Amino acid sequence: MDIRHHPDDEMLLAQATGRNDVGTRLVLASHLELCGHCRERLRVLEAVGGAMLGELDPATVAEDALERTWARIARQDAATPRRIDASAPPPLPQGATWPRALAHCRATPWRWIGPGLRWSRISVPQASEANLFLLRVAPGKYLPRHTHTGRELTQILCGRFHDGRALFGPGDFDAADAEIHHQPVVQEGSECICLASVDGKLQFDTVIARFFGGLVGM
Ligand SMILES: [Zn+2]
Repeated sequence: MDIRHHPDDEMLLAQATGRNDVGTRLVLASHLELCGHCRERLRVLEAVGGAMLGELDPATVAEDALERTWARIARQDAATPRRIDASAPPPLPQGATWPRALAHCRATPWRWIGPGLRWSRISVPQASEANLFLLRVAPGKYLPRHTHTGRELTQILCGRFHDGRALFGPGDFDAADAEIHHQPVVQEGSECICLASVDGKLQFDTVIARFFGGLVGM
């Protein structure tokens, strides 16, 4: 796999220290499953974070702090469903695999949202605020030109697209924000499926695209 696009250090550091929101964490985890380069960078950042912790002055904690922490973890375990209906994720083309990071999530069947364009909403247990979805675009088709009210993170599961800035292929990661106006066009020969996490909404340029985007809550 020829991965050319990776998350930046800031995002990986936030992953290492548990500061990423759920959507970001899952998209990054999906990338890390495939990218040895980023796993190594994460390992270094975790080591740096650990060393920084070691240099902090010791703090005094309550005598029962450990006991209360264990009790809290036990309560969370009891409340967390082991696995939510991952029995029928939408089918993927041959050779593409679902990220293990999504094993506890539920995905709707593919839904038509435009010519050559389908999507599937992903719900994450106990994180209804996460705005995660899969996009499936047929060969030669495109996602209408748009920008973003917040950050849009994308992990390419299969296929290739060019969005005017660069070519993206399987395993690649992309981050776009309100300053980026793009139109991902899928290359001929293979459909493209992407996992995306969006803060806020996509803002499409055309009325029709806005209509369909609004229908599904993109
Ligand atoms: Zn990477």
